[in-house]
Amino acid sequence: MAVRTLLSTPFSTSAGDPPVVVIGAGPVGLAAAAHLSTRGLPFLVLEAGDSVGAAVAQWGHIRTFTPWRYIVDSAAEKLLAPTGWSVPTTRRSPTGAEVVTQYLTPLAGVLGDRVHTGARVVAVSREGLDRSRGVGRETRPFVVRIQHRDGAVEDVRARAVLDASGTWGQQNPLGSSGLPALGEQVARAAGRLTGPLPDVLGADRARFAGRTTLVVGMGHSAANTLVALAEIARENRDTRLVWAIRGTTARRLFGGGAADDLPDRGRLGSDLQGLVSSGAVELVRGFATRELRLGPDATTVDLVGDTAEGERTIAGVHNVVGATGFRPDLDILAELRLDLDIGLQAPRAIGPLVDPAVHSCGSVPPHGWRELAHDAEPGFFVVGMKSYGRAPTFLITTGNEQVRSVVAHLAGDHAAADEVQLVLPETGVCSSGNALTDVEVGSGVTSAGGSCDAPPRAAVETSSVSQSLERLAVGLATGVPDGRLGDELSASHPASQEE
Ligand SMILES: Cc1cc2nc3c(=O)[nH]c(=O)nc-3n(C[C@H](O)[C@H](O)[C@H](O)COP(=O)(O)OP(=O)(O)OC[C@H]3O[C@@H](n4cnc5c(N)ncnc54)[C@H](O)[C@@H]3O)c2cc1C
Repeated sequence: MAVRTLLSTPFSTSAGDPPVVVIGAGPVGLAAAAHLSTRGLPFLVLEAGDSVGAAVAQWGHIRTFTPWRYIVDSAAEKLLAPTGWSVPTTRRSPTGAEVVTQYLTPLAGVLGDRVHTGARVVAVSREGLDRSRGVGRETRPFVVRIQHRDGAVEDVRARAVLDASGTWGQQNPLGSSGLPALGEQVARAAGRLTGPLPDVLGADRARFAGRTTLVVGMGHSAANTLVALAEIARENRDTRLVWAIRGTTARRLFGGGAADDLPDRGRLGSDLQGLVSSGAVELVRGFATRELRLGPDATTVDLVGDTAEGERTIAGVHNVVGATGFRPDLDILAELRLDLDIGLQAPRAIGPLVDPAVHSCGSVPPHGWRELAHDAEPGFFVVGMKSYGRAPTFLITTGNEQVRSVVAHLAGDHAAADEVQLVLPETGVCSSGNALTDVEVGSGVTSAGGSCDAPPRAAVETSSVSQSLERLAVGLATGVPDGRLGDELSASHPASQEE
């Protein structure tokens, strides 16, 4: 293992003021860098991929449902302005690829050589202290171990660490117990199983045309893939589409239609609902994947699962698309004393705010450095997508506000750090009484009373942090109340069935 010191003085010999290290150059990592730059704090951004926005680029063919103004960070916008850059004014929300080329790449250009690509963080610890030693941790800098693309390894010291490494690299397995289903790795090695969001209408098209594809999962990745596959199926009638979900209703994914604050997201859910209603997509509910069995010539696979009626097999599948969500990589943080929600693996204070059991929305109470902090590890913050742990509802706009608050805290600007603001459409639809009910969704009602009838108005929800973790009224809500627990209620409503 080669060791080298490209980035800075080796931690073991340097007594200088170490930088703040940001792990990951996705939208939130680069927003953090913009705030650090604006405040004049020394920093390094370490990105595992060969270019910035490497995770977003992997789903570059997918159109986001977030308008540009909720993607672009305020400090980033100010840094970019002198280059002649301005927030794109296109009416459609951007694709992942457009986010990378039109925003993240120019932003990295302004940030310059403090952004390092091909630099994967493989571990974070405290200088001279392993996890078992608690005394004096706050006085020691962090040690961030990097593996460069050529395999060389380097340690850098850090005054603080912001882990914005996302969760894209840690896809959940198909097995309903959280473990890989039996035979899952074998099916993947045989090419029968792909991760979420294959480029169905582009590079991967030939793989799906005229074949049977089973999509497993209940999120927007599954919806995007099914809607794209349906386009192929319209041209090639031998294309068969099956969609398996663990729950008994797809209500949350079908969403609130016109009551969704993000029209593209609402449309995606409605389109999928139409495909299920027309029979273009066969929906298998209540299916808990247990085993994948390769066919004799390995060109097909059978999925064996448990249902309320007993074992069920979905046979003769050419392609399985696993879209079962993501989880944070905590292995790189194993030497730190983190305070995490025991279920979601998000920072403990964030967990209850985003728990998918109780709400389905992109809305969240304003939160900042205090909620993201780990008391036993001052100076370390998980931000961005990873800060939601296993919860799927993260939005970039929330991450931008997280890093604004965290960086203000690091700069000693306590007033700004504690004045957490979310500037979002005003809505009342999130686990609240004026949202559409399942019965209304099922019978085609598209908007609820109250604030949902009105076009979204910009609202600033401000929190002085100490007060308001109970509030759920502001955000980019889906128009569907409640989360998984709401599914159970909805399942007992015959009128709310999907078809
Ligand atoms: C298909 C899809 C559509 C989405 N649509 C929207 C949308 O419309 N609106 C919205 O707000 N959000 C959307 N999201 C969620 C979106 O992914 C996040 O909001 C956003 O990308 C999160 O940014 P991030 O910087 O936290 O993480 P990421 O974008 O995942 O960036 C993390 C970066 O860290 C790097 N990295 C990972 N591990 C390491 C390591 N060990 N060392 C160094 N670098 C590392 C990765 O390569 C990556 O570049 C969507 C997600 C998907 C999958």
